[in-house]
Amino acid sequence: VQGSREFHPEDTVIKLRHTTIGGDTGLTMMSGPCSVESEEHVKAMASVAKEGGATVLRGGAFKPRTSPYTFQGLGVDGLKYLREAADEQGMDMITEVMDEEHLDVVLEYTDVLQIGARNMQNFSLLKAVGKVDKPVLLKRGMSASIDDLLNAAEYIAAGGNHQIILSERGIRSFDSKYTRNLFDVSAMPVLKKLTHYPLIADPSHAEGHWDLVTPMALSAVAAGADGIVVEIHDNPEKALSDGPQALKPDTYLEMTRKAFALADTL
Ligand code: PEP
Ligand code: MN
Repeated sequence: VQGSREFHPEDTVIKLRHTTIGGDTGLTMMSGPCSVESEEHVKAMASVAKEGGATVLRGGAFKPRTSPYTFQGLGVDGLKYLREAADEQGMDMITEVMDEEHLDVVLEYTDVLQIGARNMQNFSLLKAVGKVDKPVLLKRGMSASIDDLLNAAEYIAAGGNHQIILSERGIRSFDSKYTRNLFDVSAMPVLKKLTHYPLIADPSHAEGHWDLVTPMALSAVAAGADGIVVEIHDNPEKALSDGPQALKPDTYLEMTRKAFALADTL
């Protein structure tokens, strides 16, 4: 098993133009809006993201929305705006590829491919990104076990792409009245023990409520995550997706200060 520490004891370190992820390279911050909403908005959010110490700008251009009647993303225009915003700030870029049909165009723009929770076991998509020479951030499916996640990663590795980043983003549980998902903090040290891949924790999608994001981001740092991916928005009430979990700039800057300070003590 290529993802196993037994096969490959040293940490995998992923190097991008502005970022290194994993190993002893320190905490990686990935931040940005859930969706790219406009050129102007994503550029403003990129500046906030950078101020908080993020080196990777996130934003969805092709969105996997629960309802087909909600905002589906700006598509290729969104990719362009996110690329420009990242370049303007000297940041790397991550965005989701939802299907094989869009893989080539997403690859034209992005530095890191994101495979969403809903696609964690889309084996044809996993095989397709396994043949690509760019890092892949693989999110844990909402009802996937740790072994399911590791097997999904194995599909990517089997194709020859070893630049894999795992992401815990919360799993379905029974208390979704208070938290969107159950943030599986205990999976983090387990994953770090079993695999050599970097781990990026996503407290935004785990919690669904902005006020739970900072404590859970800090819990992930304490649990050994190599980085955090977090959604930000200057006007969450008007956000086109995932507004309730978005951190406003001030809260975001406070969170990142605490997260980097905590990481320094570990
Ligand atoms: C996202 O990152 O905006 C997203 C849709 O995440 P997930 O696949 O974890 O739900
Ligand atoms: Mn989102």
